[in-house]
Amino acid sequence: MNIPETKHPRIVVIGGGFAGIALLKQLKKVPAQIVLFDRHNYHTFQPLLYQVSTAGLEPDSIAYPLRKIFRNLEDFHFRLAEVVQIHPQQKEVETSIGSLAYDYLVIATGTRTNFFGNKNIETHSMPMKTVPQALNIRSLMLQNIEAADITDDPEARKRYLNFVIAGAGPTGVELAGALAEFRKGILENDYPELAEEDMGVHLLEGFDRVLPPMSEKSSKKAQRFLEKLGVEVHLNTMVEDFDGTTVTTKDGKTFKTATFIWAAGVTGAPIAGIDGEALIQKTNRYKVDRFNRVAGFEGIYALGDVALMETEDFPKGHPQVAQPAIQQGKHLGKNLKRMFEQKELKPFSYYDKGTMATIGRNKAVVDLKKWHFAGAFAWFLWMFVHLWFLAGFRNRVVTFFNWTYNYINYDRAARLIIRPFKKSL
Ligand SMILES: Cc1cc2nc3c(=O)[nH]c(=O)nc-3n(C[C@H](O)[C@H](O)[C@H](O)COP(=O)(O)OP(=O)(O)OC[C@H]3O[C@@H](n4cnc5c(N)ncnc54)[C@H](O)[C@@H]3O)c2cc1C
Repeated sequence: MNIPETKHPRIVVIGGGFAGIALLKQLKKVPAQIVLFDRHNYHTFQPLLYQVSTAGLEPDSIAYPLRKIFRNLEDFHFRLAEVVQIHPQQKEVETSIGSLAYDYLVIATGTRTNFFGNKNIETHSMPMKTVPQALNIRSLMLQNIEAADITDDPEARKRYLNFVIAGAGPTGVELAGALAEFRKGILENDYPELAEEDMGVHLLEGFDRVLPPMSEKSSKKAQRFLEKLGVEVHLNTMVEDFDGTTVTTKDGKTFKTATFIWAAGVTGAPIAGIDGEALIQKTNRYKVDRFNRVAGFEGIYALGDVALMETEDFPKGHPQVAQPAIQQGKHLGKNLKRMFEQKELKPFSYYDKGTMATIGRNKAVVDLKKWHFAGAFAWFLWMFVHLWFLAGFRNRVVTFFNWTYNYINYDRAARLIIRPFKKSL
């Protein structure tokens, strides 16, 4: 794979997500060769994937080239490759482009969609974890609206225009809100033959409230915002199956739909080769200590969503959101530096900065430690925080411009079917 030999130790990092990037940014002037593997040549800002799915933003606003982020890092080598196996005995990783030896290995592979073993749902539903998947949803949504526009069959029209989302976590809530706004702003202007009330947006949630990880106050407020936008929220509703045309739930409800979006869960994305007590089967996360060292494996660390660090405050591990990943990455970077300087390592502790979710224009909810608020101020704060954390100045400017334009014009400029989506069954 054309990585030069080195007299320095080699740090191999798998995954250029939030955790991997935060780690690498700390490794300037470290006497080591650094190799980053990722199956994409860009970093994905996952919190805004739903805006790509619903035609609010172009994909290049939320993706950023990994090579560009680290162009000033010395002895740094990025390779576009999938890591398929770790051989801890040989201290080697096996990838889609060959094998490479490491001295220190950092696994920051995040999560993958969890279909809970339901093959039908896996085959027929639309997951949203990556930019290509978000683009698939965008194409399918627009294709289905086009199909509704040309059919004479009212049943078929209803099915094409019925959008069903499983999971009312932040992703499901944000998607549902954006789809409802699409119906309000775009459908009636672009498709004069279609009536606004023909389009349905259903949000199905197994718990008794939306946004289960947030405060009850924020859950209630978010539900009210959703209902105001015309989203039909179905609580205590567990999805049982989807055969490609009908979603069935455990309590016997059915929803006919041509677009079923699966936002109901993720599971860790570990790599073959490290298992035993180091891998917690239930969540597919690596058990790590307060220094992010994988239990029982010397020189191997795990970070972010794929790592499970039990602490007093978080006995089941940190929430699988961006902040723990960023903070762990930064912390391990500093610890690796300390290690090279032969200084004492410091244990990690998480600082919870709060949680937020947006439902639509002027509608967001924010939970800080002791303070919960909602509405227009929360929405501006949500926008500010997301712009701040987006990688790259260009991305921030383009996103800010798009959001301002969309806000003024009630528009979603990216409603383009570039590559028609066809489910490969
Ligand atoms: C739709 C969606 C919305 C979200 N919204 C929010 C939000 O609003 N707020 C929030 O805080 N969090 C949100 N999250 C969660 C947040 O994105 C994650 O917690 C965060 O990305 C975790 O960072 P990470 O570095 O651990 O993993 P990731 O950011 O997922 O990065 C993992 C990287 O590893 C690469 N990779 C994985 N396996 C391999 C392999 N075998 N070989 C090579 N490369 C590999 C992937 O390509 C990826 O680049 C959202 C997640 C999703 C999916």
